[in-house]
Amino acid sequence: MTPEMPRDAERRRAVAPVICYPNDSLPKPDLGLYRAARKSASKISETRVLPRDAACFTAPRGHFFRITSIDGPQVGDLNLWNAADLSERFYSGKTRALHGTHLGQGERMWSAFPHLRPMATIVEDTLGWYGIDRYGGSVHDVIGTRCDPYTGNLLSGGQYHQCCHSNLTRALAAHLGVSVDEAEPHVHDVLNVFMCTGFTRDTGQYFMKASPVRPGDYLEFFAEIDLLGALSACPGGDCSTEHSSDAAACFPLLVECFAPTEGSLEGWQEPARNGYDRSHGA
Ligand SMILES: [Zn+2]
Repeated sequence: MTPEMPRDAERRRAVAPVICYPNDSLPKPDLGLYRAARKSASKISETRVLPRDAACFTAPRGHFFRITSIDGPQVGDLNLWNAADLSERFYSGKTRALHGTHLGQGERMWSAFPHLRPMATIVEDTLGWYGIDRYGGSVHDVIGTRCDPYTGNLLSGGQYHQCCHSNLTRALAAHLGVSVDEAEPHVHDVLNVFMCTGFTRDTGQYFMKASPVRPGDYLEFFAEIDLLGALSACPGGDCSTEHSSDAAACFPLLVECFAPTEGSLEGWQEPARNGYDRSHGA
């Protein structure tokens, strides 16, 4: 039963929103310095992520890593960890609270408590022209989680093993030389690279639509700390129809890492861990 509407319902609805976390005081990345350093940086490695699979890569602090669409439109699910301490991992929810539902140039991927510091900064985005479409959709979201076999099982039964969650788990297990049981708890909510998503205005439901990404498009990051990354080429392909199955056309993704030249990052420092003293009033 719908509860009775109060007389001042419209007045209450008309209250203007305030931004939860005004982010003007966030430390700003020096994109000019990063760009200048990138010009003389040289490629040191590349990793090919096969369709419906994932791969790990490393990007030392001060290096750049680029994720490129090759062969066909494909979205990727990205996990990041501090290479020396997997408990410091990407915090999708707080990144969303700080920057909004989708990330773009100059925005950062923040790490989990108690660290809460930038792990990576987006320096180039060839889909930066897309903006927010008429459905409220945009690219590179931090609102989805990652496709996973548990939700698939819950909604339609079955045992599907190529969801991003499983792909990331297998890739991390292989990289660390541990079992999938040991690796799985490290897998976390992702940055949905190239994926085009939003929330429906009428029902507030999470939606996806065909990604505008085309071969040659890329998203490039500056590694603020020593990073271990894992990228899954989602079984949803461009996510125009469905995921969590083998139905969609899927393509590989390319990850390349670039090393800066000596002295090109003069003045840059690895971000410090968060300054809260962790006494929690106890
Ligand atoms: Zn996926």
